Amino acid sequence: MKKIGFIGLGHMGGPMALNLVKAGYALKVFDLTPSALKKLSAAGASTTASAIDAANDVDVLITMLPSSPHVNQLYLGECGLLKTISGQPLIIDCSTIAPDTARDVSTAASKRGLEMLDAPVSGGVAGAEAGTLTFIVGGEAKALDRGRAILECMGKNIFHAGDHGAGQVAKICNNMLLAIQMIGTAEALQLGVNNGLDPSVLSNIMNKSSGNNWPLELYNPYPGVMDNVPASRDYEGGFLVDLMSKDLGLAMEATLSSKSTTPMGALAKSLYTLHSSQGHGDLDFSSIQKLFSKKGSKP
Ligand code: NAD
Repeated sequence: MKKIGFIGLGHMGGPMALNLVKAGYALKVFDLTPSALKKLSAAGASTTASAIDAANDVDVLITMLPSSPHVNQLYLGECGLLKTISGQPLIIDCSTIAPDTARDVSTAASKRGLEMLDAPVSGGVAGAEAGTLTFIVGGEAKALDRGRAILECMGKNIFHAGDHGAGQVAKICNNMLLAIQMIGTAEALQLGVNNGLDPSVLSNIMNKSSGNNWPLELYNPYPGVMDNVPASRDYEGGFLVDLMSKDLGLAMEATLSSKSTTPMGALAKSLYTLHSSQGHGDLDFSSIQKLFSKKGSKP
């Protein structure tokens, strides 16, 4: 049976690791947060006292960390994994990070004779829990073949976007579009409410009309319209405003480096930065709805 090391057991990594345990893999897991380790331990994974303990002597090493500096530090820092790791694992980093960081780490891995994939995901916490994530993979096809069965335990769709870093580029484009759609959906719903409409009635109408989009249909930002979405639990859990803001920052970096034009993405970045600066960085990104509400009214 393949041994897997898993580092980063947060909103996404926790349920992803649980699905691998359920699929029968032997997991060694590590996170800086003891409560995250506890959950995995209860499910049957072995917890470790350090990242290197989780990474040593496994067949596949998976990381799911917040951002580029975390990934850079873990793999390439002073005591980075790539300096000390033992064994020949396939490394799969599922974090959403800068394409250049993904390329730097995979180059360093390759110098050590290790294969690495960037494999950011789409589908949110619900997708991580249900094992229905979309993996957007950059790296060599033969490395993807090596890891495919494991990715299939956590996701339904696995796309090979291209060489190292390509998974991150595709993910950044997707999230920029998601942010733009979320903001547009929130402002349209608030416009309807401010003009006397019930947000559920308006959502039903737009879902069957040309304004239909993913946030409106599956992740409605207006409280009370849908059950089981962050908007109906005070925007707790889910995909944090600060993580969306980070992804939009990555999109702006890619815009500059490729001399592209992304005015809607730039506006989305400004609005999410403003929303975070108003104290909402730890809420789900659908809480952008709050930016449009009238003083004293819901949400
Ligand atoms: P999170 O903050 O909930 O989890 C990150 C985890 O990494 C935390 O538990 C933290 O303690 C741990 N960690 C950080 N540094 C560590 C280290 N050096 N060693 C061990 N553990 C460490 O974040 P998340 O929501 O799970 O997101 C993870 C990644 O997935 C991010 O890059 C995010 O952009 C991306 N993503 C998130 C979602 C979502 O809906 N939450 C969806 C798609 C992609």
